[in-house]
Amino acid sequence: MAFPTETVYGLGADACNAAAVAAIFSAKQRPRFDPLIVHIHDFVQIELVAHSLPPKAYKLIEAFWPGPLTIVVPKQKAIPDIVTSGLPQVAVRMPGNSIARELIKQAQTAVAAPSANKFGHISPTRAAHVQESFGSEVDMILDGGPCTVGVESTILGFTADPPVVLRFGGIALEDIKRVVGEVQIPPHNSRVNASPGRQLRHYAPLTPLIAYDSPCHQQAGLRKGLLAFCPPQPAALQQYAAIEVLSERGDPAEAACNLFAALRKLDSKGLDVIVTTPAPDYGLGPAINDRLNRASYTQTAQQKARST
Ligand code: AMP
Ligand code: MG
Repeated sequence: MAFPTETVYGLGADACNAAAVAAIFSAKQRPRFDPLIVHIHDFVQIELVAHSLPPKAYKLIEAFWPGPLTIVVPKQKAIPDIVTSGLPQVAVRMPGNSIARELIKQAQTAVAAPSANKFGHISPTRAAHVQESFGSEVDMILDGGPCTVGVESTILGFTADPPVVLRFGGIALEDIKRVVGEVQIPPHNSRVNASPGRQLRHYAPLTPLIAYDSPCHQQAGLRKGLLAFCPPQPAALQQYAAIEVLSERGDPAEAACNLFAALRKLDSKGLDVIVTTPAPDYGLGPAINDRLNRASYTQTAQQKARST
């Protein structure tokens, strides 16, 4: 079943049922090495899922739950290995969306849920996006309207101190630092200390995407689309066949909310290429830029040779 959260729409299964979780992996065509986030509806339910939370994890969940923050902490035995891809830690979050919390409550179990899109593609922020990706493959989609945050949760790991930022997301880093002080940020393409499933290519449209535009993309005859963080200069407009502006007032939170729907719109227009302008480096800006960088990632021939 697909359901709304404040971040993106999720595809949910009983987190304690390995067979149900396996069905999610196959519906999404998601590799088994990419672990799932387990969703709970209240603070008591965390005891079913995780144990030995460090004091900083408690501080963060007090500050940001329910909301777009995921913590990675030691898992309970009730959570089968398939959920965590065999890791001893589990990722947990309590969603801010009340429909999601009610669904989890009614299910009387914790719910493992990745985003409701095929692996590697653009995340869904509307019920219609889920329908486009899965059609009759999902038995039910709960329509809760557009997601209010629009990018996935911020993920913090607690195997080290200071805690490690495993993914930029719906809670700004400034706000997290205000609660727990310093955090560690692994380099963009680091596999050390980072989480599995942090694909260099992710959130990708079918149309080639270039973050960010430059003169070498000014080829004549190319049908270019622009995904602009804020309204572009009028003089620049004529070179684009289609334009989506993420925030008229240049607000990173508003831009995050519109990001995936705008990317889907441009992807449906038969363009040769989509170029983007970066979000600023504060608030949800880094989460937007992270998605754009991954959506635009293409392996060079050298990298391909190395990875095979
Ligand atoms: P999503 O793609 O939104 O479903 O989020 C799943 C991501 O959360 C994975 O790709 C990992 O990066 C991270 N994650 C989930 N579970 C774990 C875990 N047990 N340890 C580390 N990272 C995790
Ligand atoms: Mg996803």
